[in-house]
Amino acid sequence: MVGHERVADNVFSFQSEVYAQVNAGVVAGPNWAVVIDTLAYPDETLAIRDFVEQELKVPVRYVINTHYHADHSWGNCFFPGALVISSVLTRELLKKRGRPSLEETRQQNPALFKQVRIVLPHLVFEKGTIGLRIGKKTLRLLSLPGHSPDGIGVLIEEDRVLFAGDVFMPLPYFVDGDIDQMARSLTKLLDMGLENIIQGHGGIVLRGEIDGAIYDNLAYLDKLREVVQEASKSQYPLDILESVDVESCGKSRVIMNGLAGELHKRNLISLYHQTFGEIPIGSEEVEEDYDEYED
Ligand SMILES: [Zn+2]
Repeated sequence: MVGHERVADNVFSFQSEVYAQVNAGVVAGPNWAVVIDTLAYPDETLAIRDFVEQELKVPVRYVINTHYHADHSWGNCFFPGALVISSVLTRELLKKRGRPSLEETRQQNPALFKQVRIVLPHLVFEKGTIGLRIGKKTLRLLSLPGHSPDGIGVLIEEDRVLFAGDVFMPLPYFVDGDIDQMARSLTKLLDMGLENIIQGHGGIVLRGEIDGAIYDNLAYLDKLREVVQEASKSQYPLDILESVDVESCGKSRVIMNGLAGELHKRNLISLYHQTFGEIPIGSEEVEEDYDEYED
């Protein structure tokens, strides 16, 4: 249900096999371990805990949340002995939106989320970076907003491995964030001399692929800006947005288990809204399709 990979000495990544290829990580020291993000479903998060306790034979002392979204933070409750660390903003957003969102999810799927409760971070940082020593390694937490306003990444300095959170995905997704912030965060990663990037979702990006993947994501963002400008000149901007598929913006529709097409559409509509402050209007025909599609 959850596969793991050894990324460097005592550094592991875990990928969900059931939910959108979401990733989490573990860094282990001689006496305790740090978990970076939890997974979407309880069983998968518990599998990470079992791995740390039974295979690595250390307890989890810290859990870091890269941002407040459910598939990265709702597993905090499965590490009752650990301190949870995040940005100030993650704590605020989880406090405000986490509980209502959990209530709603529980109504749709009571059995699956029965044991889940929202655990707010215990240690937060506001600006700059913070470091955490574990054995001979230094974990550096740095701000990487864009996918959401609160996003952080976790850099393992000695290994040059970055757990980037959702600011880095095979298809950039900024509906809860900001496209310009995302572009700035991605650009920042170019000069960091990274060996590996563990994206929030999808496969590990290896050293030789990192710059290409960053430029590819930046090109996608630029293309969306163009499309939205073009659409704004039309009487029915939604018709234009609906007609520009993910492939024509340089990305494959099959990435992220086929979620790409859907995320792409939401990106375009959100960017239009963020740019012009209004919802794009469509012709009658397209509006009808769109309503159906929303259900
Ligand atoms: Zn997210």
